[in-house]
Amino acid sequence: MSLRFNAINNLSSSEEVQVENPTRITAIFGESVFTVKTAREFLSDEAYKSLIGSIRAGQKIDRSMAAQIASGIRSWAERKGVTHFTHWFQPLTGTTAEKHDSFFTIKSDGTPIEQFEGDALIQQEPDASSFPSGGLRATFEARGYTAWDPSSPAFIMEIGNGKTLCIPTIFVSYTGESLDYKAPLLKALEALNKSAVDVCNYFDRNVTRVTATLGWEQEYFVIDEGLFNARPDLVMCGRTVYGHSSAKGQQLEDHYFGSIPERVYAFMRDYENESYKLGIPLRTRHNEVAPAQYECAPIFEEVSVGVDHNSLLMDVMDRVARRHKLRVLLHEKPFAGINGSGKHNNWSMATDTGVNLLAPGKTPKTNLMFLTFFVNTIKAVHDYADVLRASIASAPNDHRLGANEAPPAIISVFIGEYLTKVLNEFKERVTAKMDETDESMLKIDIHKSIPELLLDNTDRNRTSPFAFTGNKFEFRAVGSSANCANAMTVLNTIMADTLKKFKSEVDTHIEKGDKKEIAIMHVLRQYIVASEKVLFEGDGYSEAWQKEAEKRGLPNVKTTPLALDAMVTDKAKKLFENNDVYTHGELEARHEIELEKYIKKVQIESRIMGELATSHVLPAAIRYQNLLANNIKGLKESGLKESAFANQKQILEKISEHISKTGELVEKMIEARKICNNMNGTRTKAIAYQSQVKDAFFDDIRYHVDKIELLVDDREWYLPKYREILFLR
Ligand code: ADP
Ligand code: MG
Repeated sequence: MSLRFNAINNLSSSEEVQVENPTRITAIFGESVFTVKTAREFLSDEAYKSLIGSIRAGQKIDRSMAAQIASGIRSWAERKGVTHFTHWFQPLTGTTAEKHDSFFTIKSDGTPIEQFEGDALIQQEPDASSFPSGGLRATFEARGYTAWDPSSPAFIMEIGNGKTLCIPTIFVSYTGESLDYKAPLLKALEALNKSAVDVCNYFDRNVTRVTATLGWEQEYFVIDEGLFNARPDLVMCGRTVYGHSSAKGQQLEDHYFGSIPERVYAFMRDYENESYKLGIPLRTRHNEVAPAQYECAPIFEEVSVGVDHNSLLMDVMDRVARRHKLRVLLHEKPFAGINGSGKHNNWSMATDTGVNLLAPGKTPKTNLMFLTFFVNTIKAVHDYADVLRASIASAPNDHRLGANEAPPAIISVFIGEYLTKVLNEFKERVTAKMDETDESMLKIDIHKSIPELLLDNTDRNRTSPFAFTGNKFEFRAVGSSANCANAMTVLNTIMADTLKKFKSEVDTHIEKGDKKEIAIMHVLRQYIVASEKVLFEGDGYSEAWQKEAEKRGLPNVKTTPLALDAMVTDKAKKLFENNDVYTHGELEARHEIELEKYIKKVQIESRIMGELATSHVLPAAIRYQNLLANNIKGLKESGLKESAFANQKQILEKISEHISKTGELVEKMIEARKICNNMNGTRTKAIAYQSQVKDAFFDDIRYHVDKIELLVDDREWYLPKYREILFLR
């Protein structure tokens, strides 16, 4: 029996995995994390102080302290049954990486002991050669190392019965170039901290630290493992390259409001429990619009922790799903014709005095501070829309951003009707002749109940890639499989840069004799005018917006190879260098890596399409073609009239047409691939793969294959069909 029918048979006998229910979430929350509280318990005063100093203020930890901290972490971990440790990091492959080592060692006299030295905590040398470096290591230094990041707490990962102590680290080359997602992110956050504190100090001298906050919303599909395994395309690419849409799709929207199937529900509770133990503060779960699609979201956290938690969650989900004989699909577009998945990044900034800088205040003065950060964000997105677009570019995300589904590749900002009015009034009232003694000029009319009002009014537009939702911005164009670090590094860097320029302009006004508030208002007005064209309140999916955006001169780059250009322009190089986030070399390397990733993805998809067509689709089609031909021949020989087998003939004609078209196109695609492979230059090659392989063939081949799927005998078709993958559990 084929894998398809086997999988369908097995579905009814699949048992639900029993999941323990914690009495309360708080009883298990953070149980596997070396939290500050645990640190207090397991470390000496001195070691504890050193660790806290490093977490809170980025102070360096010296070797002797590191040894003490390592030993404290080991005692804690051993009490929980841990025997191994690993440096845990986020290389540019997009997944997480680990290299396990045991505490076990043998002393010079042969005595076996367990130990975890300070050096092992601080630094490790994984075999770096297999991680992408974009040529960096070749140019600079062959080896790379992982370095402890004390700002992210150590945790214990449970896999089956094994428990491993994971030390979050950054991954850098010996000459200091970043080779991962985390190192530049930490730099961007530091840049933002500096610029934002400076601007905050116009309003409040007590602010000494500003942290960016992130609350992601993770969308994903869950499908049966047997059906998954019977689809080589899902196994190899994470998405289906073929598959006729099922009679029922998402048109009834019944899944969105529906209850969660029991097997999926058990899986959810299971991964949630694991996440709670790891300190991931998951809060919501619900069905999404597409069948078999779901979403989860945590309570927001500091960006660096939020990023780690999202990466960790993606690992945990994948692992736990297998336990339930299910598979999680994190791909941006696993199925054609129904919604894909994204990862909204809710983002704001908070001061150490407890103020959310994107929450409107209650007094004119705090409102001016809110408006300052609000307008600067709009200006940042306006000035660096291209860089922001590049930060979310990937082969799978092109399926969403380039298509007529959320959100478009045009980066625009949605702020809602009310704030649009506020900005317009502001623009009119703040004039060059503004009477500086008139205190009433400083009163910005923002309604007292604005926060409630905003929450109500701003969340309606779901088509905007960057939307203000009451007390935060929501960056919705991030792909579901992406590491949020990339988008967050760029967003926080452009914000840092914009705030820095803002401060220098305000200071210039002050030096010329303007009162501080007046100076701020002048520069804000100038920023509102300068960035107005990025604001858009309408339907982001519409044809009209594409035209309007073009008229406004907003970039609309639909494909990854071209979108990535924005990473290496002079503008981008200056931006990242001025804020100490990336050197030119690092940017070039990253650009190269992203292009290579793109090429490989298209290459793999193209190969799978070819392979499935020749080894599955065509044989099934030809068997059916033979059946029809023999049938017609037999009927003819028995002396029946043409009309008796007219129908068979028609099907035979159709299927023969699709067979020859499929065969022909696959041949041509393979030829095109060969030409692309011989091209020089990664960018040229990526563009060629996109236009001459993907765009030139994928849709066309799929069209014929999907027609064949509809025509041939269902029993001859070995790939699980959409209706089965999406609706059977
Ligand atoms: P929706 O699905 O309507 O967009 P949710 O309430 O599901 O909204 O998700 C909102 C997300 O925004 C949550 O993850 C939440 O933690 C996050 N969030 C709320 N306030 C902030 C903030 N100040 N900074 C960052 N994220 C925030
Ligand atoms: Mg949202």
